[in-house]
Amino acid sequence: MDLFLSDEEYAKLDAAVVSAGARAGIAERVALAWHLRERDSGRARRLAEQALAELSESNDQRSARLRLRLQLLLAECHWLFAELDLAEAQARTIIPAARTLSDVLILADAHLLLAHIAGDRGDLPGRCAELDATAAMAVGSGDDFRMEFAQLCIAHAALRQNIASASAQWGAHVRDLLAKPVHPALHVMCNEFLTFEALQTSDFATVFRVCSHTVSALKRAGMVRQIALSMTMLGVAFANLNDDTQALEWMQRSLELARPTGWPLVLGNALLQVSSVQRSLGQFEAAQAALDEALPLLAPLQSSRTYALGLVYLAELQRDLKQPAAALEAARQFDAPAAAPRPLDLRLHMMAVEALSLSELGRPQEALAAAHAALQLVREADLPLHLSDALQTLATLYSQHDLPAPPDMQAASPSLHYLLLSLAAFSPEQQSSVPPSVFDAIAAEYAKLGDHAQAYAYAQKARAASEAVHKQDVSKRLILLETKFHTERGELLSQTSATLERLSQIGQEITGHLQEQAVYDTLDHNVHGLLRANHFSVYLLDAAGENLLLAYGAEDGRRLASFSAPMSHPTANIVRCAAQRREVFIEVDPSSGKNNPIPGTLQTLSAMFMPLISGEQLLGVMSIQSTQAHAYADRERLIFRSLAAYGAIAIDNAQNYRRLEATLVSLHQAQAEVLDKNQELERAYQSLKDISLTDPLTGLRNRRFLEQNLAGEISQCLRHYEDWRRHPEQPAPQDADLIFLLVDIDHFKRVNDDWGHPAGDAVLVQMRARLQQACRDSDYLVRWGGEEFLVVARATNASAAPDFAERIRAAVAQQPFDIEAAARLALTCSVGFATLPFVPSQPERLDWQQVVGLADQALYMAKRSGRNTWVGLSATAQTPTLGDISELLLSPQASANAGWLRIESMRPMA
Ligand code: GH3
Ligand code: MG
Ligand code: MG
Repeated sequence: MDLFLSDEEYAKLDAAVVSAGARAGIAERVALAWHLRERDSGRARRLAEQALAELSESNDQRSARLRLRLQLLLAECHWLFAELDLAEAQARTIIPAARTLSDVLILADAHLLLAHIAGDRGDLPGRCAELDATAAMAVGSGDDFRMEFAQLCIAHAALRQNIASASAQWGAHVRDLLAKPVHPALHVMCNEFLTFEALQTSDFATVFRVCSHTVSALKRAGMVRQIALSMTMLGVAFANLNDDTQALEWMQRSLELARPTGWPLVLGNALLQVSSVQRSLGQFEAAQAALDEALPLLAPLQSSRTYALGLVYLAELQRDLKQPAAALEAARQFDAPAAAPRPLDLRLHMMAVEALSLSELGRPQEALAAAHAALQLVREADLPLHLSDALQTLATLYSQHDLPAPPDMQAASPSLHYLLLSLAAFSPEQQSSVPPSVFDAIAAEYAKLGDHAQAYAYAQKARAASEAVHKQDVSKRLILLETKFHTERGELLSQTSATLERLSQIGQEITGHLQEQAVYDTLDHNVHGLLRANHFSVYLLDAAGENLLLAYGAEDGRRLASFSAPMSHPTANIVRCAAQRREVFIEVDPSSGKNNPIPGTLQTLSAMFMPLISGEQLLGVMSIQSTQAHAYADRERLIFRSLAAYGAIAIDNAQNYRRLEATLVSLHQAQAEVLDKNQELERAYQSLKDISLTDPLTGLRNRRFLEQNLAGEISQCLRHYEDWRRHPEQPAPQDADLIFLLVDIDHFKRVNDDWGHPAGDAVLVQMRARLQQACRDSDYLVRWGGEEFLVVARATNASAAPDFAERIRAAVAQQPFDIEAAARLALTCSVGFATLPFVPSQPERLDWQQVVGLADQALYMAKRSGRNTWVGLSATAQTPTLGDISELLLSPQASANAGWLRIESMRPMA
C-alpha cells in the first residue's frame, strides 16, 4: 500500500472501483478508502466501516492485514479531527498486531502517525523517537518511498530544533532530491524543508518561489492538510512583507480549503493568522471573532504550539483594546498546566504582557515581580535577543510608576537605566538591528530629564534606525515585485531564466544606490546590456506636476542636451505615457518618412515609454529607443517594464534620501546659529520625533500621536468641568468639550478589488485634504486603521458635533476622487461620533477609549442604516443614574430603548 497516491493514480483507482460497482475487490476498496483519508475523510470513513464489516467474517492473513490498514485509517481520521487520545490508543493497539503479522509497512505508517500525534501535542522528543522507529521500519520494508519520506520527516524535525545544524546535515540531500523527478509527496517534503529554512532567515524570495511550486505538488499528492498549512504559511510570509491584502488572500484560500474538512488544527491555525493580520490592520472586532472561533477549536490541542500562540494573540488583542484585566487573564491561562512545557519564546512574551497589564491595573509590585521573573528566565536560558525586550519591559514599568530605584542604578533615572541596559544587550554586530523604538524611548527619557543634547542625539539614532527599516521595506517591496513577475509573467520569462536571474541582480544593484545619478548610470548600463537601444532617457515630473524634465539622457554614448515638455503637450509620447500612466509603444514605418520629433536626435524606428510609479505617486517616464525597426517584442517589453519598476523604487528612494539629508543639514545650520542651544536642540528633537508620529501614506497623525497628546487635552477639559461642579451656580463650561468622530470609507474594499491597491492608496491620500477641508487646523486628524480615520475636535461644544459630522460626510461625497490620470470615482463615507465628557455631570465616568468605543458603535449604526450618513451617541438626563456604564458600550441599541442613551442621526433610523 502506497503512503500517498498522485492525483492521476488516485483517479484511476477511483474510476476502477466505481465502474466495478458491487464486483469491486475488497483490496481495491480498502486502497481507495486509504487514499481518501485526506481527500475526503467522511467518504473514507464510510468506505472503511463497510469494508471492516465485510472483513470481520474472514480470518485469513490477507484479511487481517486489510483490517489493520483500515483501523490505521480510522486512527488517522481521529488524529485529523484532533481526537489525539483516541488516535494514539488505536495506533498503539495496531502496532503489536502488525508485528504478529510481520507487516512492516503498517508498522512504519503507525509509527509515523504516532509521530504526528506527538508533534501536535508539542512533544518534540516523543516525535523524534517515533520518527526513528518509522525510519527503522521503512528500511526493514525495503520500500524506497517510505524510507525517503521518513528521512525527510526527520530532517524537518531537526530543522525545528536547530536550523544551522539541520541545514548542514540535510540541505544538500534535499536539494539533490529536488533535482530528480520524484513523487509529488517527496517533492512537497523537500519544498517544505527549504521554505521553513528560508522563513527563518527572512529569505522571502525563496519562500515564495518554493511555496508556489509546493502548492501545486501538494494538490497532486492529495495532501490536503499540508496544502492548507502551506497556504497559511505563505500568507504569513506576505504579512511579514507588509502586504496585508495578499496575506489575507492566501489565508482566505487556506480557510476555504480547511472549513469543509472541519480539522481543528488546520482551521484553527488559519484563523489565528487571519486574526493577527486583522489586528495589525486595526480591525479588532474581526480579529476577536476569528480568535473566538479558533481557540475553542484548538482546545483539544492545549499543549500544542499553535494553541499557545492563540493565547498570545488573544492577550495581544486585549492589550490593543486597552483591556488590561482581560490581557492578564489570557496570560494566566497560558500558565495553566499543560501536558508539554510551553515554548520559551512565547512564555517570555506572555510574562511581559502580564507585567505590563498588572502595571496598567495599578499593581506595580506584582508587575515588577513578573518582569524580574522574565529577566531571570532569559538570563538562565541565555537568549540575548529576548534580553533586550525583558529590560525594556522593566523600563516601561519604572516610567509608569514611582518604584524604588534598582540597587545598581547608574543612569539618571531607573527607566533610563534599564533602557540603556536594553541597548547594551545588542552586541556591536547587532547594532543595526536595534529597533527605532528603543532609541526613541531613550530620547524621550532624556528629554523628560531635561537633557536635550542627549535627547537630540538619540532621536537622530532613532531616525537612522527608521531609515534602515525603511530600506528594509524597500527591499521587501522589491521581493514582492519579483514574486509578481515570477507568478504573472513566469511563463514568458521561464524560457530565459538567465534573464530573470540577471534582472533580479540588477534590481538589487539599482535599488542599492542612494544617489540619483548612480541610479541612472546603472540603469543606462543595464539597458544596453539586455536590450538593443541607441537611446535611453529618464524624465522626471517637476514639483508642481506641470512639466517633464529630462533628468538623464544618452544616445549612442553621448549625453543629451536638457529638454522639457509641459504636461499639457498635445502629442508628446512622454506626456501621453505620464498623463495616462500607461506604457506607450511606438513602431515607425521607415517608408513613411515621418520626421524625428526631437531635433538633434537620431531617427527612431522603435520606442518604448514606461511610467515611473512608486506607491501611487507618478515620478516620471523612462524611455528607450532604437534606430532598428521592430526592436521590441513581448520579451523586451517585459524586461524594460521590470527595469522601470526597479528604477521607480530607486529614484523614489534617492529623492527621499536627498530630502532627508537636506533637513539634517539645515538642522545643523540652525543649531549653530542660535544662541540658546538647548532650546533649539529641543525643537530639533521635537521635529525628529514628529516623523514617528505621522502615518507615512497619508501624512496624517497616527495612533501613537493621539496616545501621546490626548492626555493633556483631556485633563484640561476635565478641569473645566471640575470647576463647574464646584460652582454649579456658574454657567456650564463653554468650548471645553472634545468631539470624537470616526470616519470610515464606504465599500472601500471594492476600490481595491476593482481598481487595484494603488488606487485605494490614492483615495486614502486624498482623504487627508477632504478631512482638512471639513476641520479646523487645531483638530487632530488621525489615520485610525486601514481606511478608518479618527477626527478629534478640541475646545469645542458637544452641540456642534452633528454639523461637524455632516461637513465631513459632504466633503467626501460631494466630489469624486482621482484614482488614475483619467478616472474619477464617487465615494461616500459613514461617520459615528460621541463626545467627551460623555456625561457632563460626571465628567470622568467614561475615558476617551470608551468614548471612541461609542463612536465606533455609532459608526456601525450608520453603516447598518445604509451608509453615506452619520450617527451620534450622547447621554440623556437619565444616564447619570445608570449603575454599570459598560452597558452602553455593550448594547447601545437596548440602552437607547431604555432611555440611557440618545441616538442622533442624519436620517431617521430604520
Ligand atoms: P464598509 O462600507 O462596510 O466599510 O465596507 P469596506 O469595504 O470599506 O469595509 P472593510 O473594512 O471590510 O474593508 C476595508 C478594506 O480596506 C480592506 C483592506 O484591504 C483595505 N485597506 C486597508 N488598509 C489599506 C491601505 O493602506 N491601502 C489600501 N489600498 N487598502 C487598504
Ligand atoms: Mg469601509
Ligand atoms: Mg473599515
